[in-house]
Amino acid sequence: MAIATVNPTTGITEKTFDAHTGPEIERRITRAAQAVRELRATDFQTRAAWMMATADILDAEVESTARILTTEMGKTLASARGEVLKCANTMRYYAVHAEGFLADETLDDPSSVGASAARSLYQPLGIVLAVMPWNYPLWQVIRFAAPALMAGNAGLLKHASNVPQSAMYLDSVFTRGGFPEGTFSTLLIGSAEVKAVIEDRRIAAVTLTGSELAGSSVASIAGAAIKKAVLELGGSDPFIVMPSADLAAAAAMAVKSRTGNNGQSCIGAKRFIVHTDVYERFRELFVTKMAALTVGDPMQETTDVGPIATSSGRDDLRELVDEALAAGAVALVGGIQPDGPGWFYPPTVIEGITPQMRLFQEETFGPVAALYRVADAAEAIEIANGTDFGLSSNVWTTDAAERDRFVREIEAGAVFVNGMTVSYPELPFGGIKVSGYGRELAAAGIREFCNLKTVWEA
Ligand code: NAP
Repeated sequence: MAIATVNPTTGITEKTFDAHTGPEIERRITRAAQAVRELRATDFQTRAAWMMATADILDAEVESTARILTTEMGKTLASARGEVLKCANTMRYYAVHAEGFLADETLDDPSSVGASAARSLYQPLGIVLAVMPWNYPLWQVIRFAAPALMAGNAGLLKHASNVPQSAMYLDSVFTRGGFPEGTFSTLLIGSAEVKAVIEDRRIAAVTLTGSELAGSSVASIAGAAIKKAVLELGGSDPFIVMPSADLAAAAAMAVKSRTGNNGQSCIGAKRFIVHTDVYERFRELFVTKMAALTVGDPMQETTDVGPIATSSGRDDLRELVDEALAAGAVALVGGIQPDGPGWFYPPTVIEGITPQMRLFQEETFGPVAALYRVADAAEAIEIANGTDFGLSSNVWTTDAAERDRFVREIEAGAVFVNGMTVSYPELPFGGIKVSGYGRELAAAGIREFCNLKTVWEA
C-alpha cells in the first residue's frame, strides 16, 4: 500500500511519501534507545512540563491540524477540531496524574513476607512500537503516547499508510514541546516491515489499534518474541432500547453514535436492538433523523457526514449491505451508493437481518445501522452477545433491575447506560473477545507499559 494522502472527498492523490528504508529505520530506533536512557534521568515534573508544552502546541495549531485530518480521512472539520483538542486535554490529564498513578505501593506489614520493608514500583519498559489506524489519526496515537511518555517510555509510530501527514505532524510535535530528540518519532513503513521492528531487541513492547487481522498478526509476532502487546481491535457495539427509555433521546443519540466520524468509529453503536413494544416508534424517530443528515464535503461546517476514508473501505461496506439486501433484508433509508467523485455512502438503516448474513456478524465501518426487534431483555442480551466482538455497549432503560442485568450479562469492555460510548481519559478503555486485550486511558493505561518491580528488603 502506497504511503500517500488520497483525499476521500475527491479521490485525488494529494501527496505521496517515500517509505523509510533500512538505514533510516535503524537511525530512528537508535535515537529512541538513546532517548530512553535520557528519560531515565528525568522526573515526572520535567516530563509534565514538556507534555503541557506539547498540549499548548496542539491547541495553538488546532485549525491547521484539523484540516490535515479532514483532508486525509474525510472526518468533518468540526470533529477534527474536537479530536485535536481532546488530545491536548488528555496530555494535560496525564501530565497532572501520571505521578500519582505510578506512585510506589508500600506493603503495610512487611513482616508478613519476612522483610523490614517491601514495596512495588513502576518503571518504564523502554521503546514501545505503536501500530495505529487512520480513523482518529491523532487521538489513537495520543491516547497511547501521552501515558507512555509520561511513564518514561519512548514511542515509535507506524501509522496507517493513508495518513502520512498526520504521522509526520506527530513525528515532531513532542520534541517541539521539549522532549529529548527520539522520544517519539514516526517510521514511514508499510505493514510488511512491522515484523522486523517488533523483533528488534531494543523494542520492548507493541500496541496495535486496528482490525482483527492486523492484531492477530502483530500479536503472534510479539508472542513469538515474548514481548508485551496491547490490542484495541474492532467492535460491533449493541445499542439496546427498552420500553422505559426516553425514545427521543435514545434515537438522537443512536444517530450520533452511528454516524459520528462518518460511521468509522470502533465504539460507534452498530446494532440497534429494540424491544417490540417500542420498536415502531423508535424506528420512525431513528430513520427520520438518519434521513435528515447532510452528507457532503467534510470541510463545510454544515456537513454531518463526510466520505468513507478509503475506496476499499467503501467497497467492503457496500458489499455487506448489498449481500444482506439480496438475501431479504430491507433498507429503510439509504443502501444505495451514490455516483460521483469521492467515496461517499449514505446514512443507512437496515432491518430483517438474519444470522446467516455477514451483516449480522461483521463490523460495518460506515454509517450503516442494523435494526433488530426483540421480545424481552433476555433476547436483547442474546443478540448483543451474539457476535465475536466485545468492545463496548449502550443500554437505554430507566428500570434499575433491567439496567443491573445488562451491566452484569453483556460481554463487553464497557456498558454506557442511557448514553453513548465515548472515550474519556479518566475511564479505562478496551475490549474482550476479538475486540482485543489490555486497556488504554486512566490508571490502567499508563501501567500497561511499565514494569511493576517488587523490592524486598531484609
Ligand atoms: P488495519 O487495516 O488493521 O490497520 C491498522 C494499522 O495496522 C495500520 O497502521 C496498518 O498499516 C497496520 N497493519 C495492517 N495489517 C498489518 C499487518 N498484517 N501487520 C502489521 N501491521 C498491519 O485497520 P484500519 O482499517 O486502519 O482501522 C479500522 C479498524 O480499527 C476497525 O476494525 C476499527 O474498529 C478498529 N479500531 C479499533 C479501535 C479500538 O480502540 N478498539 C479504535 C479505532 C479503530 P497499513 O495502513 O500500512 O496497512
